Parts: sequence; C-alpha cells; structure tokens
Amino acid sequence: MVLYMPTKVYQEKRCVENHSRELAALGTKALIVTGKHSSRVNGSLEDVKNALDREGVSWTVFDEVEENPSVETVKKAASLGTSAGADFVIGIGGGSPMDAAKAAALLLANPEQDADFLYQKPRAGSGIKPAVPVAEVPTTAGTGSEVTPYAILTKSSLPQIVLTTVPGADVHHAFPYLGQRTKQSISHHIFPTLALVDLSYLQTASRDGCVYTAVDTLAHLIESHLNANTTDYSRFYSEMGLRTWAKVKDRLLRYEIGEEERRLLMNACTLGGMAISHTGTSLPHGLSYPVTCEMGLPHGKAVGIFLPGFLRGYGDREEVMRVLSLLEFGSEQGFSEYIRALLGEVSIPDELWERDVNGLLENPRKLKNYPFQLDHDRLWAMR
Ligand code: NAP
Ligand code: ZN
Repeated sequence: MVLYMPTKVYQEKRCVENHSRELAALGTKALIVTGKHSSRVNGSLEDVKNALDREGVSWTVFDEVEENPSVETVKKAASLGTSAGADFVIGIGGGSPMDAAKAAALLLANPEQDADFLYQKPRAGSGIKPAVPVAEVPTTAGTGSEVTPYAILTKSSLPQIVLTTVPGADVHHAFPYLGQRTKQSISHHIFPTLALVDLSYLQTASRDGCVYTAVDTLAHLIESHLNANTTDYSRFYSEMGLRTWAKVKDRLLRYEIGEEERRLLMNACTLGGMAISHTGTSLPHGLSYPVTCEMGLPHGKAVGIFLPGFLRGYGDREEVMRVLSLLEFGSEQGFSEYIRALLGEVSIPDELWERDVNGLLENPRKLKNYPFQLDHDRLWAMR
C-alpha cells in the first residue's frame, strides 16, 4: 500500500499573492497556459502575472486552450514556451488548461520529441527527461487536476478518410459527427509541484459550470471508492470526500451556492483528485469520453449520466450501500432521481452507445480498474 501525494497545496484567499516567492522559485521564465476568457474575468491571470512581476520572473502567455484540449493545442503551447525560453509552466483555469499545462511541460523538457511520445510508455534508458516544474491555479471545483498526475487530451486516432465513411453516421443529425476522436490520458505521470487554490476565482462560474464540475468530483470519489485499486489510504480521501460532498448536495440541487458551499465543493474536489491519484477512475469516465467527443457534452455531465448505472451494476452491494450512506442517500433510486434532477435527461443514440460499449470492452487499460467480469449486456444496461 502506497501513499504518494507530492503536490504542495495552499488553499486560501489571495494565495497566489501570498506565495509568489514559491511560485517564482520554480524557474526563471514562466509559460502561462490558460483558456480563452475566464481567467481574465475572474482575476486569476492578472494575479499570476502580478505575482511573477513582483518577483522579477518574466512570463509569456498561451491563452488558446479549448475545452477538452487537443494534442495540437498542447504542441502550440509548448512551441511558444520553447521559443520564449520558458523553464516552468503555470496552468490557470479548469481541468482543460491545467491538463494542457502538464503535457506542455513534458514537451518543453523534450523539445526534440514529436508529440506522439506523449502516448508512448516511458521506458528506462529512452533519454526522456522529466517534465519541467508545473504549478496549477484552478478556477473550477471539479477535476482535481491540480493534485493529480494525469493529463487528458483529445486525440484523433484514425486517418481523415475514416472520418467521413463510418456507416450509420446519419443518426448524428442533431450534432456534428466528428469521427474517431477520443480523449485519453497521456502515458506520463506529471504531478504539479504547487497548487494555489483561491476560492474567489470560482465566483464567476455559471450554474451549469458549477453543477457539472461538482458532479465530476462526485464521480472521482465514487469511481475511486469502487475500484480494483482501492486501498485503506485511497479510502481516507474518498470517504472524507463523499461525506463532504453530501453536505452540499441539497444546496447544489437548489443552486444555493455561496462561499461556504464553494469551500466544501473545492475540498471535495481536492480529495477526489487525491483519491484518483491512487486508484485511477473507472467505467463512467471510460464511457464518457466518446460521448463528450461526439455529442459535445461537458466532461462532468458526460461522466455523471453513467453514475446511477455504475452503482446499479456494481458487483459488491455492501460497498454500494456504503457509498450511498456516506452520501446520505437512502436508496439507489433516490440517488438516480437526484442525478436526473441535477443533470436533466440525456439520450445517447443507440449507434454511438454501441460503439462506446464495444470500444470500452476492447480496451483492457480502461477495464482494469473494474474488479468484476464485464460483458456487452452488463455495460449496455449502464446507460
Ligand atoms: P474546462 O474544460 O477547463 O472549462 C470549461 C469552461 O469553463 C470553459 O469555457 C472555461 O472558460 C470555463 N471556466 C473555467 N473557470 C471558470 C470560472 N471560474 N468562471 C467561469 N467560467 C469558467 O472545465 P473542467 O470541467 O474544469 O475541466 C474538464 C477537463 O478536465 C476535461 O478535459 C477532463 O477530461 C479533464 N479532467 C482531468 C482530470 C485530471 O486528473 N487531470 C480529472 C478530471 C477531468 P475558458 O475556456 O475561457 O477558460
Ligand atoms: Zn473527471
């Protein structure tokens, strides 16, 4: 049993300003990686720039990270950082910029490598250098990316010709058919050195943004707790996180979210990140990626719609009851109704669902965290 949680986390108001010296000590020139708008609106970008200016450390900003960031975007960020001479990276935003920052930090350390190596298993003697240091400044309470070693990117896995010739694509009339794009965690683990968590950046979140990211946290906690890799240590995090999430669940449904609720959600988020750092996620995350890529559903919503089915189909009923009790739900039905009320109804077309289920069954990497035998019918019933 191992407990390894190397990221130093400050959670306090004005922590970027308060800990500017530690931030600046990570290098001599920062590549700031962020999204297109929100970090300007919630003040986080300005705070980071001011902190670096005060410490006399120069910086350059890459502000083109989209939701569910692509490998191509990460390549652009890294090449800006390389030409600017950056030797550390600061991710500011939700999980998308924070993940892009980790992957860019690895490319910055290995400028001679093609981006393909992000998905190649690191091997001893391969000459691959560890990522340059990363600091993360989260502005959503959901992914926990500020404390996890994971970076999930969108990649195109098949040649262009396949994108236009998949039979049955006409069922996707309601949304653009994007073909074989999917999301996958890069093969390298990169823990941020520093996480600077200031709840005031969350205030600008919309109702949907807050709810979907909170559901992502819930999924991390549940999927870590019901997992083949779970240990007593990982359960310290997941149990405390589930209890914390329970305290805010009714107010989340009514969307009565103030400072205290944001604090609880961020605490649960950090605990969820620490829990999955030890166990990984499970089926709801594996099933969510094609749904996000094909239907454009935000990550937390795409994951959340599979949680009721995941609990329903899980082989260890005692553990399921434990999760429900930590969350203060009286029954599985109560949990399902709650999730439906929070996220609304989502209908996944049969053709996409079939492809999603088969894709998961063919991918041992995605199944290994699930402790029971799975077949097509059991997975099919999770929708
Ligand atoms: P996100 O994709 O980072 O951002 C979603 C939207 O929220 C963007 O439009 C963003 O705007 C906006 N936004 C961010 N902070 C805001 C704020 N304070 N106020 C208003 N709007 C704000 O969302 P996310 O759910 O946090 O991250 C999802 C990504 O994280 C997915 O790619 C998922 O796979 C990944 N993930 C990673 C891990 C991990 O361990 N590494 C775990 C779970 C999920 P801008 O674009 O303008 O910034
Ligand atoms: Zn997630």
